Amino acid sequence: MPQLLNKLSDFHFLKNVFYFFSLYLITDTLLTEYNTGTYLYLSYPILMLIARFHSSDSIARFAAIFSFLIIFTGNIIEPITMDAVEEPFITIPLAYIILFPGSLWPVASAGALLFSYSFNLQLSDMVILEEFIEDSLELLAISGFASAMAFYQQKLKNKMVEYKKDSLTDFLTKLHNRKRFYADLKKIKYIKNNPDIKEEYQYALVQIDLDGFKKINDNLGHQVGDLVLIEFADRLRELEGHDVSIYRVGGDEFTVLIQHQDIEPITNTLITSVLDFAKTPYKNIKSHYSLTASIGVSLYDDCSELTELWCRNADIAMYEAKQRGKNNAQWFNQTLMQETLRYYQLEKDLLTALKEEQFYLLYQPNVAVSTNSIVGVEALVRWEHPTLGLISPVEFISIAEKNHLIIDLGKWILNEACRQGKEWSDNGSAISVSVNVSVVQLSHDDIFNTVRLALETSGLDAQYLQLEITETALMDQPEQVIAKCNQLRGLGVKIAIDDFGIDYSSLRYLKQLPIDIIKIDKSFIDDSVTNEKDHMIVRTIIQLGHNLGITVTAEGIEDKDQLNILKVESCDKYQGYYFSKPVTAQSIDQLLVVK
Ligand code: C2E
Ligand code: MG
Ligand code: MG
Repeated sequence: MPQLLNKLSDFHFLKNVFYFFSLYLITDTLLTEYNTGTYLYLSYPILMLIARFHSSDSIARFAAIFSFLIIFTGNIIEPITMDAVEEPFITIPLAYIILFPGSLWPVASAGALLFSYSFNLQLSDMVILEEFIEDSLELLAISGFASAMAFYQQKLKNKMVEYKKDSLTDFLTKLHNRKRFYADLKKIKYIKNNPDIKEEYQYALVQIDLDGFKKINDNLGHQVGDLVLIEFADRLRELEGHDVSIYRVGGDEFTVLIQHQDIEPITNTLITSVLDFAKTPYKNIKSHYSLTASIGVSLYDDCSELTELWCRNADIAMYEAKQRGKNNAQWFNQTLMQETLRYYQLEKDLLTALKEEQFYLLYQPNVAVSTNSIVGVEALVRWEHPTLGLISPVEFISIAEKNHLIIDLGKWILNEACRQGKEWSDNGSAISVSVNVSVVQLSHDDIFNTVRLALETSGLDAQYLQLEITETALMDQPEQVIAKCNQLRGLGVKIAIDDFGIDYSSLRYLKQLPIDIIKIDKSFIDDSVTNEKDHMIVRTIIQLGHNLGITVTAEGIEDKDQLNILKVESCDKYQGYYFSKPVTAQSIDQLLVVK
């Protein structure tokens, strides 16, 4: 019963009911009223059925014209009484409204019907004439009104189709947009989950990100950026087809959905084309701006039917491609899957780790090169995970930065380091304590008050506290960082630039920066003994620091030869496994006594 109601509420179904009813009425009239060639008229309903249901438009039109000609000529040869045609024939134009909605077919057919009838009209018979005029007006009025209604309905329908298309199209590139992408994902999920649909395709999702696009946008302006996106999209469009749909899902992010029985070869061919397209010079940018693409691919079969996971897998693969040096493609695989699972576990567990006191600090001595005695320590955080064991900060700091947990964690580190620093200073060891400060703390925390409070609470003299800021943080937002460093220095704390040299250090900022210490990155120290260029870089940084009145510390000293270079180059301080790995506060106590 509900099925029947559903069917009745379907307008399409009602139209067909009316259409069949009209065919029945007209055929019945034709067969009963005509005396000659009666069976010829049986072709009328057959042609009208072809006109309604044949998939080819031209055959449908041809059948419709032919069926009308049958009635038209029949009417001329052997006119039937007005009464007989009055009711059934009024459905002829209405049937054409169903066949060709919004066209002039219904009115034309009504006119032609009247015209054919008028051939045999006896003008002397006033009663018949009057009846003819009355019926003609009725027929024209009904078919005209119904046609007009159908015309506007069709127009509205076309408009709605157009609006719908617009809402699913990216305004800039005219590719499908994100909304359409999600709609298509839903369709795929439906097909894959529906046991009634026999599905022989595999599906791949290709995530494309343009490397270097941000630079173009920032340096050449958004207008040029837009033109580049349009040009790239036009190239991608060449790949579109029955098996391949292309979407722009974000600024410079494009996604391709591929369906195929043998998915890998076709996806690899597409990837090669996309990498080529991205590199091909663009009309609107000069040659020294280079663009490439980083591509991540994941298969639907690897996402446990969760489309959100499917997209995430492709994203992860894409980031992996970026990390592997850009301009390449990476397929999502089991290793990435394990890494991702670990990442999400750490992300989740980090939320409670601080409350559950799973963090602790180790301290690595900071040693004066000339005397080889400890002058300070760097606090380095460790996470003892209840099931995964010791986790390196290299792994979890970036996760904590991403979800801003680093702000609370950073406060805890700062308080703990200051408390420990105060204990050493109370015990007569006037050593400085360095604390690493993340870029997220600098931009999202009131770092000035956090540091002030930590000093106040611990009672540590500000001169014994050093804050280490990475070069990347500085280059991200130089003005903001410089202002904050100035404030912090006002408290009496010292500022160090960590990992100096690995990023594009700007000498302009170095001049403005209120810093006390430069820490030469370990990567320059590593080969400084064997590689003359690295040695020269170490020498240059030390001289640069000294010329600017800045203390220079070298990181990662692992052997005597490296230390000798520092002595020769008059570096101030060093840290490294050669002297000591990061150790507990108690071990530092012992080192302070022994060394
Ligand atoms: P970093 O601040 O540059 O710290 C130096 C890193 O080099 C430490 O790794 C240290 O153990 C390691 N190291 C020191 N000497 C040697 C050596 O001779 N050889 C080798 N191979 N390594 C040496 P760790 O503790 O794993 O920290 C890594 C990075 O994690 C740190 O780099 C820092 O950026 C971040 N980090 C560590 N603790 C914290 C923290 O408390 N807060 C924040 N925001 N970041 C931290
Ligand atoms: Mg550091
Ligand atoms: Mg460092």
